[in-house]
Amino acid sequence: MNYYSLNKQASDSSFRNAVIKGLAPDKGLYFPESITPLPKSFFENIDNLSYSEIAFEAIKQFVSPEIPENILKIIVEETLSFDFPIVKLNDNISTLELFHGPTMAFKDVGARFMARCLGYFNQDNDKEVTVLVATSGDTGGAVANGFLGVKGVNVVILYPSGKVSDIQEKQLTTLGQNIRALEINGTFDDCQAMVKTAFLDEALTSQMQLTSANSINVARWLPQLFYFMFAYKQLHKTYKDIVFTVPSGNFGNICAGMMAQQLGLPIRHFVASNNLNNVVTRYLISQLYEPKPSIQTISNAMDVGAPSNFIRIQEIYKNEFETLKENLSSYSFTDEETKEAMLEMYDDYNYVADPHGAVGYLGCKAYLKENPNAHCVFLETAHPTKFLDVVEEVIKEEQPLPEQIQAVMGKEKESTLISTYEDLKGFLLS
Ligand SMILES: *Cc1c(COP(=O)(O)O)cnc(C)c1O
Repeated sequence: MNYYSLNKQASDSSFRNAVIKGLAPDKGLYFPESITPLPKSFFENIDNLSYSEIAFEAIKQFVSPEIPENILKIIVEETLSFDFPIVKLNDNISTLELFHGPTMAFKDVGARFMARCLGYFNQDNDKEVTVLVATSGDTGGAVANGFLGVKGVNVVILYPSGKVSDIQEKQLTTLGQNIRALEINGTFDDCQAMVKTAFLDEALTSQMQLTSANSINVARWLPQLFYFMFAYKQLHKTYKDIVFTVPSGNFGNICAGMMAQQLGLPIRHFVASNNLNNVVTRYLISQLYEPKPSIQTISNAMDVGAPSNFIRIQEIYKNEFETLKENLSSYSFTDEETKEAMLEMYDDYNYVADPHGAVGYLGCKAYLKENPNAHCVFLETAHPTKFLDVVEEVIKEEQPLPEQIQAVMGKEKESTLISTYEDLKGFLLS
């Protein structure tokens, strides 16, 4: 499959090149040249397919022929070695739990898939690739874990000192091997600015192959379309009108859901659930797209002022506002409302949700008010103990730490403290 740049100033790229480069030379995001729907029989027969078989069929066209089928089979099997259960709250609302992977955030699937693709492309290459990634918390852990031990790939993670949770910090600073953590004396925005400067610094990029591992990379973005198919497999016999509510930050996850719909998955509608970082909610009302600096909230993985994948959503709907609006609703909620939703789920359904999932739940309720017959699935994107402080404050009950988390808590942190871009450059070149 070839990919084109959404800035339309660069030549087409192979899948391999798009994965290694991350962004096109004109700084545009890559988008697949064509999307061929899967045959009807695939969806009719979905009950007889395993998760790996579903994923293999769904992603094949986007990665072939550069990843041969026998290799792709292994990649999806290794990527999906945990569960994706649906938990039903009531007749109209279910949640799809995406936190059963090694770092207990939904980003595990994309990170594991991308790491294996890059590992495959790099196996006979004597030039190492350096994955440079800024994180406000969850991305770093998922990328560190996904890329651990992958030959020919070095990972450098930048995180803001003192601004990620203890659990998150342990997840990105304790693995060793090919993973190194840089603790930045600054904010997440500073980390991201340093990464951007590095990608544009020819003195650096002429010396080393840098790539990114956030959802702008097609190999991290596309595998997220599996989730929607896994949910459909579990629900389609009981419910006909399935709607997905996706707690959204950079809009990579929801955009992948729209790709699943393009492949033929019968999804009635999408709801983008936002915290107060609500540029898309406002756009759907006013038709004015006005990014703003991000605001800090308790669902901090969604504190994004300018969602990078929204341009891919515009491309899917051919920049037609009315078509987009038929398929996408968006609501925005305050931290206060989010906490109330966490408590309500706990009291009414004995369900402990993290703040991101709670924003999703609120999106379902808002949509159902106007569309009472739908079945709304919100994606639970992180395990509640990853946001332990706020969860325990709201439901007033101590939460047991899952095994994956306990395993890293006892390990020694290893990081290098830096303050400036020159420090970063020195570190990368040394
Ligand atoms: C990254 C993240 C999100 C937002 O996902 P996008 O694909 O950026 O919209 C939501 N919840 C959690 C817990 C996350 O880590």
